[in-house]
Amino acid sequence: MASRASWLPRALAQSPRGKPDICYPSRRLAVFVHGCFWHRCPYCRPSFPKTNAAFWQQKFTRNTARDAKYKHMYREAGSQRLVVWECQLKHGLDSTVTLVRELHRGVPESWQVAA
Ligand SMILES: [Zn+2]
Repeated sequence: MASRASWLPRALAQSPRGKPDICYPSRRLAVFVHGCFWHRCPYCRPSFPKTNAAFWQQKFTRNTARDAKYKHMYREAGSQRLVVWECQLKHGLDSTVTLVRELHRGVPESWQVAA
């Protein structure tokens, strides 16, 4: 995985939180699988915890701010960053894989195993 660092921004390569779940360095493609609850999925809109609201709001704000930061960093680096949501995988893994293939031709079959 030494080649990963060659195309990721330095801060990303050093931060475990910035590491993508699936990475294709030669294609400059990174796939992030986001948990719907933690990253506040816009599709399934997970419920907000009823207790400790201030804690959870702060937590979610930090998570989404971090996501936005990485989105910007990848864009600035000229790399592709694809977010796949947990609910997409639960409700339609095959269609998600097909979508990824269509959008990013050349993604190897092995990504299904990695996901
Ligand atoms: Zn979702």
